[in-house]
Amino acid sequence: MNHKHVKLAAGLYFVATPIGTARDITLRALDILASADIIAAEDTRSMRKLLDIHGIALRERPLIAYHDHSGDRVREKITQWIEQGLSVAYSSEAGTPLIADPGYHLSKDVAAQGHLVTAAPGPSACITALTLAGLPTDRFLFEGFLPNSKSQRRKKLADLMDIPATLIFYESPKRLAAMLADAADVLGGDRQAVYMRELTKKFEDIQRGTLADLAQRLAGQTVKGEIVVLIDRADSSSVNPEDIETQLRQALDQMSVRDAADAVAQAMGRPKREIYQMALALGSGNNR
Ligand code: SAM
Repeated sequence: MNHKHVKLAAGLYFVATPIGTARDITLRALDILASADIIAAEDTRSMRKLLDIHGIALRERPLIAYHDHSGDRVREKITQWIEQGLSVAYSSEAGTPLIADPGYHLSKDVAAQGHLVTAAPGPSACITALTLAGLPTDRFLFEGFLPNSKSQRRKKLADLMDIPATLIFYESPKRLAAMLADAADVLGGDRQAVYMRELTKKFEDIQRGTLADLAQRLAGQTVKGEIVVLIDRADSSSVNPEDIETQLRQALDQMSVRDAADAVAQAMGRPKREIYQMALALGSGNNR
């Protein structure tokens, strides 16, 4: 038996659970799941399975469903239990609660009422992906899921274009190819990127390359499994703005602004939107 029964102070315990391999759970997380007076879970079926795998008996303890949309009723119930001196463990379906998962409103309300809020930290797909990507980790921005609609997705990507940090996204396998194609187009095909499927599971798969490579590799294909995508920050230092301007001026002598921008963006591996703005500025200067 890996767990022991411990006396827990009244409060809310966020417990991280595995993102694939069931044994990726800390001993303290097991102790808390074995000892809390009440277990709340985003998905009670997955929680029962996890308890079963680790030989933790539910006994007479309540196991209730909670997600932030459960509404105020369940949240109030949890807060009342804590007020009465009980300990409540909360887990989302997989990984760390609150990370693209429920728990935020619960955390906020319980803390606002002055009760203990603590955590048994553990796996999260975004941090696992960052560890494996081979991209800079000094600064990163976790964006979660991009919008479903193509136009909204492209707009969001454009908003992220100049952020000097590794960008981390969760993505559905159905949308991966389209997302990578949009990212290559909006952010520039030359940016380094990685997509990872099924982290910590049997078919873990890590694909690295430029956005253009990855988009091309996946064009017309559907993949399966759970996915994280990471994209490197724009490497503005590698391209000299004066070189871009010289190329743009030459292209503008022979082509429309749009065609010149497309050709130079492609040649320099820069985002089309950025080069188009430069071409517009140069084009209007030329016309004066
Ligand atoms: N709370 C979780 C965490 O800490 O990572 C994330 C929950 S979110 C609803 C689920 C998404 O996380 C999946 O669609 C996928 O993008 C990503 N994910 C979760 N497990 C993964 C895994 N084993 N491999 C790759 N991506 C994973």
